[in-house]
Amino acid sequence: MDTLFTNVRILDGSGTLPYSGSVLVQGKRIRQVGRSTAAISPAGATVIDGAGATLMPGMCEAHTHFSWNDAATLAEIQTMPLEEHVLWCAKVARRYLEAGFTSCVGAACAKPRLDVVTRNAIDAGQIPGPRYLAASQEITVPGGLGDETLPHLPFPEFSFGVNVNGAEDMRRVVRMFLKYGVDSIKLNLSGDNFTPQSPAGTTWMTDAEVAVAAEEVKLRGKRIAVHARSADSVKQALRHGVEIIYHASFTDTETLDMLEAAKDRIFVAPGIAILYAMLNEAEPWGITRAKATEMGYQAEWDAALESLSKMHKRGVRILPGGDYGFAFTPHCQNARDLEFFVKYLGFTPMEAIRCTTLYGGQIMMKPGELGVVKDGYLADLLLVDGDPLANLAILREPKRILAVMKDGVFAKPPPIGDAFGRTLAGSDAQRAWGRAA
Ligand SMILES: [Zn+2]
Repeated sequence: MDTLFTNVRILDGSGTLPYSGSVLVQGKRIRQVGRSTAAISPAGATVIDGAGATLMPGMCEAHTHFSWNDAATLAEIQTMPLEEHVLWCAKVARRYLEAGFTSCVGAACAKPRLDVVTRNAIDAGQIPGPRYLAASQEITVPGGLGDETLPHLPFPEFSFGVNVNGAEDMRRVVRMFLKYGVDSIKLNLSGDNFTPQSPAGTTWMTDAEVAVAAEEVKLRGKRIAVHARSADSVKQALRHGVEIIYHASFTDTETLDMLEAAKDRIFVAPGIAILYAMLNEAEPWGITRAKATEMGYQAEWDAALESLSKMHKRGVRILPGGDYGFAFTPHCQNARDLEFFVKYLGFTPMEAIRCTTLYGGQIMMKPGELGVVKDGYLADLLLVDGDPLANLAILREPKRILAVMKDGVFAKPPPIGDAFGRTLAGSDAQRAWGRAA
């Protein structure tokens, strides 16, 4: 089924100013983008009159955890039984798609195959969900972020992350995840203030361990993504050719120089929402501002704002997303990152949009065919009620996301009128669809 969007304000995702026009979708792809309908002959296409709504590319969430179950602790996520956990992931995947995230980069899952199984079910059409790149569990070392085993209960099932000890143990675990079919391996290079025994400024893996992971991943054409908050861990990632760096809160001049030198290869997804939430919104879970400050969150927030603003000025690609799926950062508020980029990191709203569209296509390994409204690109599109450039917050209001299309098919269909032009949805009275002659 082909679709013609008419009377839409096209925000194409490339950074170009919006313009009024029409977009024809044939099969999976955008076939024509015009400044008027005159040049488009839509024989047989379903015509969607956008009535001035914004048509933009689907968004990309660059650091996704479908299997985080909106709990306040790592243990509560980890101890969810497998069967419930699979169903949870399927439900969350659908919610992301309907919220306008047509692409998600998996950043780690809570049990070995949750991400792979979810991705495969989406690709097979068993369940609705975004394009998805499946991650491994977090790989860590004893005592590091993600090692939740207790001295008297050393069982891997109790651990959020998979523990490795030494280079050959790393090889064994990386090979296991590659066998399962992951698109990326997740390494916890630094600690995190969430786990006070391994705080954000600490760095945990040896170069020998990271090198073995990089070697195995490269052999199979896959990628490594790292949890790297400390400056040393960011530098370690860059030394080993890592492409996806999560957080990067602490930097020094040397780190920034290395990031800039690698800017055409790397993506940084800071996930600053969780820092903000821990400082300002986590009191219902016992984390007052004083407690969060004591845990190191104020110092990290200040450092992250400075580091990321400098990276942005140096042209490093910074993408929204990160660590939604905790009680303090519930799923599907992810577009909030765009507001944070503008408010705290010095982005313009247009730059923030481009991070989730143009850069989204690039991090999804589909540069040149995903993330822009352009002839020949994949038809992952949103119809948005209002102007995101004037108010980015509308991108996290379900009612304002009027329609979501992935691969040319509506995942969330637009509000429609009946055959006589009368509309079924009250406030959208002027929006209607029909079939072109
Ligand atoms: Zn994460």
